Amino acid sequence: MVNFELLPQPPEDRPPAQPWPYWPMRLRTSSSHEEGGERYWNILTKRFVGERGRVTGLETVAVEWEAEDGRPARFTEIAGSQRVWPVDLVLLALGFVGPEADTLVAQLGLALDERGNLSTGSDHMTSRPGVFAAGDARRGQSLVVWAISEGREAARAVDLFLMGRSDLPQKPCCDLPRG
Ligand SMILES: Cc1cc2nc3c(=O)[nH]c(=O)nc-3n(C[C@H](O)[C@H](O)[C@H](O)COP(=O)(O)OP(=O)(O)OC[C@H]3O[C@@H](n4cnc5c(N)ncnc54)[C@H](O)[C@@H]3O)c2cc1C
Repeated sequence: MVNFELLPQPPEDRPPAQPWPYWPMRLRTSSSHEEGGERYWNILTKRFVGERGRVTGLETVAVEWEAEDGRPARFTEIAGSQRVWPVDLVLLALGFVGPEADTLVAQLGLALDERGNLSTGSDHMTSRPGVFAAGDARRGQSLVVWAISEGREAARAVDLFLMGRSDLPQKPCCDLPRG
């Protein structure tokens, strides 16, 4: 088994930039890892290679990360590091690291928070009036239940913004203006 990770290999101990009570991004080795296999960091998968509808290879390139505030922020591909790995089964176990900063975010000029997610007020409005955000893009990687809850809150915020009032349900905890 071969395990690819896009991010750099984290340190064994808690990094100084992530003091308690932050969740430390440090190297974790589970019992599954101990069963065998090789782990590679700084690897970006580019495409699947296949024959007659079956995957036979995975094309990758090595990347180099630039850190910001002690966290990996941007990567560049290392020229000449392309490689095709022979495979017969691919399991995807991908995490979310934030919205892509060079597409919609740049086009609309939306501010990001210190973790690289869309920065909003409690009304879900981004730094651009009339543009709202909810879910992982706003709160960072999370759970489906949060995405649903935030989607409902954002819908109410949009309704309030457009109509000045809303009949959509409001969470009791929610600090959106009543309307
Ligand atoms: C591998 C994995 C396993 C997970 N397992 C669980 C689990 O077991 N339980 C759980 O609760 N949560 C799980 N999660 C987390 C859960 O999937 C997310 O929290 C949830 O999907 C976030 O919902 P969202 O609507 O905010 O974002 P998303 O589901 O990511 O939806 C965003 C959508 O926007 C689209 N999009 C992006 N940019 C544009 C654009 N410019 N124009 C138009 N569309 C665009 C994307 O294609 C996507 O469809 C898992 C996540 C991953 C990655």
